Amino acid sequence: MSHLPVVPHWINGAERVSTSGRTSPVFDPALGVATKNVALADTAEIDEAVASAKKAFPAWRDTSVTKRQQIIFRFRELLNERKGDLAEILTSEHGKVISDALGEITRGLEVVELATGFPHIIKGEFSENVSTGVDVYSTRGPLGVVGIISPFNFPAMVPMWFFPIAIAAGNTVVLKPSEKDPSSANWLAALFTEAGLPNGVFTVLHGDKVAVDGLLEHPDVKSISFVGSTPIAKYIYETAAHHGKRVQALGGAKNHMLVLPDADLDLTADAAINAGFGSAGERCMAISVLVAVEPVADELIEKITARMSTLVVGDGRRSCDMGPLVTEVHRDKVASYLDIATEDGATVVVDGRGIEVDGDPDGFWLGPSLIDNVSTTSRVYTDEIFGPVLSIVRVKSYDEGVALINASQYGNGTAIFTNDGGAARRFQNEIEVGMIGINVPIPVPVAYYSFGGFKDSSFGDSKAYGIQGFQFFTREKAITSRWLDPSHGGINLGFPQN
Ligand code: NAD
Repeated sequence: MSHLPVVPHWINGAERVSTSGRTSPVFDPALGVATKNVALADTAEIDEAVASAKKAFPAWRDTSVTKRQQIIFRFRELLNERKGDLAEILTSEHGKVISDALGEITRGLEVVELATGFPHIIKGEFSENVSTGVDVYSTRGPLGVVGIISPFNFPAMVPMWFFPIAIAAGNTVVLKPSEKDPSSANWLAALFTEAGLPNGVFTVLHGDKVAVDGLLEHPDVKSISFVGSTPIAKYIYETAAHHGKRVQALGGAKNHMLVLPDADLDLTADAAINAGFGSAGERCMAISVLVAVEPVADELIEKITARMSTLVVGDGRRSCDMGPLVTEVHRDKVASYLDIATEDGATVVVDGRGIEVDGDPDGFWLGPSLIDNVSTTSRVYTDEIFGPVLSIVRVKSYDEGVALINASQYGNGTAIFTNDGGAARRFQNEIEVGMIGINVPIPVPVAYYSFGGFKDSSFGDSKAYGIQGFQFFTREKAITSRWLDPSHGGINLGFPQN
C-alpha cells in the first residue's frame, strides 16, 4: 500500500508530512478499496502540534473581537460556496450519499453561524457600587489549547460542533479526527486558513490511540471534547479528568421511537425509514428500535416493508437513497446481528444481505434490514449496532414502552409518534433521554440549543454547542474593583458591609 498517498497533519497553517512511519488505510467504501493512507502521529508530532497551538494562543486570544468575527464570517462564506467539494470528500471516505453529506455540512454551518455571534454570547456582567465605591464585573476568556477527538460518522459536522465556538472564543484547537475518514478535517483547516485564521490556531493531528492518549495527558491541553462510542467516551472522561482537564465526552446510543395506537401510521412509517436507514444507520441519533404499542405493529410493519422495497442502495455519488457501510469489518459486524436475531428467537422480516446494489460489487454493502419480536435481553437490543438494522419491540401499553426506554443504558435521543397532545406532553416529562422528538424522529437540536444525551450517551456535565458550548470553551473571571478615593482609607478587617 506504500504507493498510496498519505493524508498529512495540518500544523502551523500548512500540511506537515508525517515522519512517524505509521499509517492506517482509508477506504472508498463504495468501491471497497483503500485509496489512501492516513498518518498516525508519534509523540514528537503530538508535541509539535500542541507546541504550535500553544505558541499561537496569546496573539489569537488578544486579537480584537471584530477581527475574529470577520475571519469566522469569511470562513462561513467560503464553506457555503465550496460545500460541494467537501461533500465529495465525505462521500468518498464515509460512503454516505451526496445529499446527506450536504445535509451534514449544513448542520455544521449552523454552528459556524452561531459562532459569528460570539461577542454577544460571551460578554460579561457588571454590577455597580456593590459596596460603596466598589464595582464587580465578569469576563469570559478562553482556556488555551483545546483538544477535539471526533468519530467517523460525521467527519465534518461533529468537529464543527466544537471548533468554530472554541476558536471564536479565543482558544487554539488541536483536532484529532477519525482515522477512517480523515481528509475533511484538513480541508476545513485549509479553508479556515484561507479565510484569514492565523497559523497555529487550528491544527489537525491525525492518529490513533497514541495521539488520543498524547492529548489526554499533555499538560498544555486544557480541555477535551470527545464524540465516539461509549467505552471510549468513558475512558476519555476518566483519563482527561485524571489529568486535570475540563472534559465533555459524548458516547453511543440506542434510540427508541415509541408509536402509540393513535399515531398517523403513514407519517410514522416514513419517519422510521428516514431515521432508521438514513446514512446507513450510522448516526448517533438514528432510530434503531421501534417500540410499537399494540395493536399497531402488524400494520406498521406492512407499511415499513413496502417502503423498504423502494430504497435504492448504491454508490453515494449516484442517485441512491443509501450508501455502503464505512468499512468491511464494520459491515460484517453489523450483518452478524441478523444471525444473532435468529438465534435469539426474533423474526428477520427483511434481510439486507445479498441485496442488489447500484455500485461496485466489492463495496461494503448491507441493505436495510428489519427484525420483529426482538427481546430486550437479546444483543440485537442491548448492543449499539450502528448500521441499517431496525428492530421492533412490541409492548402492550404506553407505560410499558416508557419503562422500557427508561431502562436503557443509553439516553441520547428518542421520539414519540402520536396524535394525542396529552400523551406527548407526559412523555417529554417522564422520559429520561436528553433529546426528544414529538412526531420528529431525529430531534437534533438547532445550533442555539445544545446537543447531548443522558446516561451512557454522555459523560461530563456539558453538552455540545449552543450556550453550553460557549461555557465549556471559556472560563469566567469575576473582578472586584475600587478606584482609590481618599474618603475610603483606614483599616477594616471585616467584610465590607455598605
Ligand atoms: P470510536 O469510539 O471508535 O472512535 C472515536 C474516536 O476515538 C476516533 O477519533 C478514534 O480514533 C478514537 N479511538 C478509538 N479507539 C480508541 C482507543 N482505544 N483509545 C483512544 N481513542 C480511541 O467511534 P466511531 O466508531 O468512530 O464512531 C461511532 C460511535 O460514535 C458510535 O458509538 C456513535 O453512537 C458515536 N457517536 C456519538 C455521538 C453523540 O453525539 N453522542 C455522535 C456521533 C457518533
